[in-house]
Amino acid sequence: MGCSVCGQATEQASADLCLTHARALDSVRQAYEAWANAFGSIGRADFLKRVAKQQGTGKNAREIVEFLQQRPEMWK
Ligand SMILES: [Zn+2]
Repeated sequence: MGCSVCGQATEQASADLCLTHARALDSVRQAYEAWANAFGSIGRADFLKRVAKQQGTGKNAREIVEFLQQRPEMWK
């Protein structure tokens, strides 16, 4: 089993994501919390749409955003 996003080998056999995408997922979660604290609550789907449209969003972040849009249950 590799990373659900890129297919690369994962650190742990039980992990769904490689280190790169696990970090990207953490960043997206933190960004979501920061956003919610600053601007009030926002739906996760709306937040993901916003991030996907942002110019500064990096490749890994963009990939994890697309992944979360398809598999929202991965956002635990
Ligand atoms: Zn990956």
